[in-house]
Amino acid sequence: MRAAASEKCLTNSVLPVILVESSDRWKPPTGSCMPELPEVETIARKLKPQLVGKTIQDARLRWPRTLASPAARKFNELVRGQAIQGVTRRAKYFILQLSDFSLLIHLRMSGDLQVKAGKIKPEKHDRLILNLIGKDGSLSSLVFNDTRKFGRVWLTAHPEDVLGKLGPEPLSRRFTVEWLHQALHHKHRLLKPLLLDQTFLAGLGNIYADESLHMAKLHPLATSDSVTVEQAQALHEAICMVLKEGIRRNGASFDWVYRGGEYQNHFRVYDRAGKPCPVCGTGIERIIVGQRSTHYCPTCQTIS
Ligand SMILES: [Zn+2]
Repeated sequence: MRAAASEKCLTNSVLPVILVESSDRWKPPTGSCMPELPEVETIARKLKPQLVGKTIQDARLRWPRTLASPAARKFNELVRGQAIQGVTRRAKYFILQLSDFSLLIHLRMSGDLQVKAGKIKPEKHDRLILNLIGKDGSLSSLVFNDTRKFGRVWLTAHPEDVLGKLGPEPLSRRFTVEWLHQALHHKHRLLKPLLLDQTFLAGLGNIYADESLHMAKLHPLATSDSVTVEQAQALHEAICMVLKEGIRRNGASFDWVYRGGEYQNHFRVYDRAGKPCPVCGTGIERIIVGQRSTHYCPTCQTIS
């Protein structure tokens, strides 16, 4: 049974915070997390060898709102005959590099991508199907399945129009301790929501933000401009470590989001309300920050 939220609210000038009772029986509500950088990276790595070198024969759009741009008729016209030259990722966006365009896919809450052999019969929640042909004439399909319909697809010759506002990639050279410390001090925001802000830093979501803050011993409600150089260094190292560990374990699996990984078996705090902190044994607490579940250790992660 899910623990009831208490009435008590912490005073905060930035976002409302609701204290929630600790419970080891609490389960995250549907939609509280979504594929983050490690999950999308895992999907991209898995699909790359199955897609590169194939040509898109045609597209079947089964839910019009899945397509963010262009309009459906234009999309079908432009995508037909495009060769898939590369499969990459930027933040939480899956990217197909085509002959003349980029096809960007954001999985949002429940999106999933699979390559299936042959001409397929669509399943109920398949929103977009790209029929592919290999150099050997073999047929296959890239299927975007999305139960909750929040996922979006863009076909564009200018991917920066969609991706341009994103912050730096945390596993890139641009993400340094110096950058992080300065960027934190240019803001006056609570740490947790700031780490979730994709225009600040791209790719972190609820899971990896909570895990990073715990590893860095930083309280999720600390203000960003209070972080010292040493703390910024610890946070930088923690973010890189949890993301690399997430990728190494093929991401975290949740049955409504993503089923491939096993990082969920190694969470330090996320989804562990009431369970002992792996460092000090104190019960992990769960609070709501900016409408998102936030998990932390009240002993290890204090506000100075
Ligand atoms: Zn602790």
